[in-house]
Amino acid sequence: MTSSGWLRAEISDHEMTRTFAAIAPAAVLVAAVFYIDAFTTIESAIAVLYVVALLLAAPLLTRRGTVVFTVGCGALALVAYVIAHSDDVDVPSLLRLVVALPALTITSMLIQRTDLAHERLISANQALFESETRYRSIFEQSRVALWERDYSLVREFFHSLRSRGISDFRAYAAENPDIVVEAMSLIRTIDANGAARELLGLSPDEALPMSLYPYLSTETESILDMLDCVFCDRDRYEGKFRITSRDGTARDVLLSFPSDPSAFKRIAVGMFDITQRENTQRALRDAQAELATAARAATVGALSASLAHELNQPLGAIVVNAQTLLRWLDKNPPDLEAARHSAERMIRDGQRASDIILNARTILKPDKRILQDVRIDELVEETRAFMDHDLLRENVLLVTDVEKGLPTVNAVRIEIQQVLINLISNGIQALAGKAGGDRVIHIRLGQLVPDALSLTVRDTGEGISPAIMNRLFDPFFTTKPTGMGIGLSICRHLMEGIGGSLTATNHDLGGAVFEMTIPIRATQ
Ligand code: ADP
Repeated sequence: MTSSGWLRAEISDHEMTRTFAAIAPAAVLVAAVFYIDAFTTIESAIAVLYVVALLLAAPLLTRRGTVVFTVGCGALALVAYVIAHSDDVDVPSLLRLVVALPALTITSMLIQRTDLAHERLISANQALFESETRYRSIFEQSRVALWERDYSLVREFFHSLRSRGISDFRAYAAENPDIVVEAMSLIRTIDANGAARELLGLSPDEALPMSLYPYLSTETESILDMLDCVFCDRDRYEGKFRITSRDGTARDVLLSFPSDPSAFKRIAVGMFDITQRENTQRALRDAQAELATAARAATVGALSASLAHELNQPLGAIVVNAQTLLRWLDKNPPDLEAARHSAERMIRDGQRASDIILNARTILKPDKRILQDVRIDELVEETRAFMDHDLLRENVLLVTDVEKGLPTVNAVRIEIQQVLINLISNGIQALAGKAGGDRVIHIRLGQLVPDALSLTVRDTGEGISPAIMNRLFDPFFTTKPTGMGIGLSICRHLMEGIGGSLTATNHDLGGAVFEMTIPIRATQ
């Protein structure tokens, strides 16, 4: 490649020959004009013909080349004048020279200006071409499905509806459902990229469908939403659609387009494939629903387990009292007084069973729980009476140590009692392996801090092994072959429900100690 500062662009060697061949007529003309001007006596404005030579050469010259060519021609005109008129000053010839030189200069300037405009045009075209190429490559290579769509017809249609006084498109479409199909068929496809074709299952050389409506398996609501956006001239639309391709594959897409009224003829519509995201969300929703069902089942399960556990004691007592009652009646003569006592105990236990069921219901609806002022010392004595039979049967001594003058607490009576019965029952079970005289349960009630009472239940059993200390209150944790492992978890739940606590430790002298902290003012 040879670069010439005078000749246009960079040109190869054989092009150079062609260029010189092309410039030759101009050179010949220059030579001829010079010859006639300098060596003949033809009295005319022959030097003006340099302008013609300049015009001939200009398309092949750079701007610098044009300047040099112009200066050269001007110099030749001057030289020719000097040669022809060295002896005398010929005024008409001088005037012709004076006319020829500005003509040459003006022509050269006009050529320069045209040349500049031409160059600008070329670089603007180049920029346009590059931008178009860039746009095309973004459009084609994008993994987002892109469409060029013409919304002008549907806009015109909507204008005509508005001019007929229709202002609420949704209401109008509800009365005239066909309007949706009609409006959708007016949105035309101009172009689509590879990803968009893939979405519809079209091959690269297949014609694009004019309307996308047949591929939309979306509820009318979404379509109405989109049309309403165009109808109301909102500046952007974004909504979820479901596209079913030709082979029947359904994909969820997020459809988005700017609603620019000045460019309604060519709107770029993007479709983002959100199938995976939607599937994940659907799976998440299903999992949540399953979890909710499982949680409900677990609650019902826990509740029935708790009921079975809590009712076991009063029902057992009822059966035992009923048997005792029968024995008193079978006596001859029947011991009616003793039978009456047994019947009373049965009524008391039956009442307790009923209270347990009632309270179990309120556990599911905590706001229905009724707080009352409870005297815990009385409650301890009452509970001892409830447990009398079990204690007697298992040969367990219950020792109580109750501080005098304790305040009442604000609590749900049956709940505190339920916790106490559970702890005593566990204590009785923990003493099963012990010898007769060592089977003792200590209950202590006192006020260690101003705003709460402390109720401890200590047994003289084996105590709690450190390995299970952390899991004691876990639901369904049990070390007993027939245990359910929900007693302690429910007890802690109940205590925490009134702002109290339930903790477990081992006593220095052996055996387990469970401590209930009962706040004087319950927090619900
Ligand atoms: P369950 O009595 O049905 O096993 P709980 O929740 O009442 O259920 O008790 C859980 C576990 O805590 C028991 O299986 C036992 O291992 C332990 N535990 C409870 N009370 C005592 C106690 N007084 N002494 C020793 N271990 C106890």
